[in-house]
Order: sequence, then C-alpha cells, then structure tokens
Amino acid sequence: MTDKVALVTGAARGIGLATAKLFIEQGWQVAMVDRDTDELNAAAKQFNEARAFSCDVSRSDDVIEMVSEVLASFGRIDAVVNNAGVADFRPLEETTFADWRRVMDTNLDGVFLVSLATIPALKKTKGAFVNIASISGLRASTLRVAYGTSKAAVIHLTKQQAAELGEYGIRANCVCPGPVRTKLAMAVHSPEIIAAYHDSIPLNRYGTENELAEVITFLCSDKASYVTGQVIAADGGFESTGVGLP
Ligand code: NAD
Repeated sequence: MTDKVALVTGAARGIGLATAKLFIEQGWQVAMVDRDTDELNAAAKQFNEARAFSCDVSRSDDVIEMVSEVLASFGRIDAVVNNAGVADFRPLEETTFADWRRVMDTNLDGVFLVSLATIPALKKTKGAFVNIASISGLRASTLRVAYGTSKAAVIHLTKQQAAELGEYGIRANCVCPGPVRTKLAMAVHSPEIIAAYHDSIPLNRYGTENELAEVITFLCSDKASYVTGQVIAADGGFESTGVGLP
C-alpha cells in the first residue's frame, strides 16, 4: 500500500477506467473524474479505494470545484492523468467551427484547466502529470483535423509543463495510444480503418486498455523518477513504421 492519490479524468470507461483499476491494484487511492455521472458512479462502485467526482473538464468552474472536492476527500494529489477525450474523424473542409470547438473544449482546454487547477497540489507532493494524446497528434491523415490538432497541442503542452514545472520536482509525460477498442474508437473506426490498422501495425492488432494503463501508471510511479518531457507511443509499433494513418 501507498498513501498516494491519483486523479484520473475520463475514468468512467475505456483507458481511464483501466488506469484507475491498475492504480488501485498497485495500492493507490483514485479520484475518478468524468462528466457521465451514471457511468462514473457505476464504475467507481466496484472499488473501495476510489471515489467518483462528476465534472466536465472543459468547464473552468466545474474543474475548480472538482479539484477542491478531491483535496477535501483525499488531502493530496500525487498524479494527474489527463485522459478525458472525444473523437471526431472529419477532414478540414467538412469540419464546422462547432465540430472544432467540441473537440478542442475537451481535448485541449480540459487538459489545460485540470493542469492549472492541480499544479499547487502537485507542487506539494512533487507529483506527475501524464497527458493522453494520440498517434493522431504525431502524424497527419486525410481525416480528423480537429482531433489530430488537439492531440498535437497536448503533446506541446506536456513539454511546456515539463519545462516550467521541473524546478518544483513535477514531472510531465505524454502517452500516445495507437488504436484501442473503446467506445470512442469504435464510434469512428470504419471497417476499412480497422482493416488498415491491422495491416499497418507491426504487431498486427489493436492495443488493450490495460496495455495503456501499464504505461500510464509506470510514468506516474517513482520508477520513472528521471523521466519527464517525453512522448511515448504505445501503439504496436505503428509510429515507427512511417506508414500513413488511415
Ligand atoms: P472512451 O470514450 O472509452 O472514454 C473517454 C471518457 O472521457 C468517457 O468516459 C467520457 O465520458 C469522458 N469524457 C469525455 N469528455 C469529457 C469531459 N469534457 N469531461 C469529463 N469527462 C469527459 O475513450 P478512450 O478510448 O478510453 O479514450 C481515452 C483517451 O485516449 C482519450 O483522450 C482519447 O483521445 C485517447 N486515445 C484513444 C485511442 C483509442 O483508440 N481508443 C487512441 C488514441 C488516443
């Protein structure tokens, strides 16, 4: 057991839920954050060491209130996993400003707002940020202009966090998942995209939520105490091949 506390956004399902579960198995306490209150409460119920905090990370007031509730409940925060995200697979000319804003609100503003609100707590614990971007933030494709741009910005924001907050002992790293069969991915992966991923990924398969959770919790742990400012693709080798994104 440890007295450490992780705050995980987008924890009601998918990669966030798997990350919350693995933290708990590793002896951490977890603040599970999501805007889908019903799914979040149902997910948190299965763990003794977790509490649910309903919050839309794209709303500044919501985030400030959520972080103060987390601190009132747990007294400290040692790791923040900025994982909440939405997807949109549209090319530039088919993307409206409303589509663009919906993606930026959660994927970029959400990471910024949660980071800003948790820096004072992380300064006290010399804690860690892990931000979840995507291989779509590393490579352009003929789809997903808003999604890819939001994730590229998250990669830069992570490097900025590492550069500015290192003097307080705070580390910041970014994980870029390849395809994982979550609700988010399955809503936008057509049969053609699924087939193309299987063909172009060196490991010839999708990743699992737990494979991502292992990388995320490692980066939050003391085992990664000299790792900061890094962008780690957990993608079955996709990024290393130079093949275009479908
Ligand atoms: P998911 O849809 O299963 O989970 C995302 C969670 O985020 C949901 O519970 C949702 O309610 C929550 N959420 C969305 N907007 C929110 C907001 N504004 N405030 C609070 N909660 C919000 O998706 P996932 O695949 O587990 O995605 C997790 C992260 O991984 C995302 O950032 C996503 O972009 C990234 N990612 C996923 C894949 C993939 O193939 N699944 C690939 C690359 C990157």
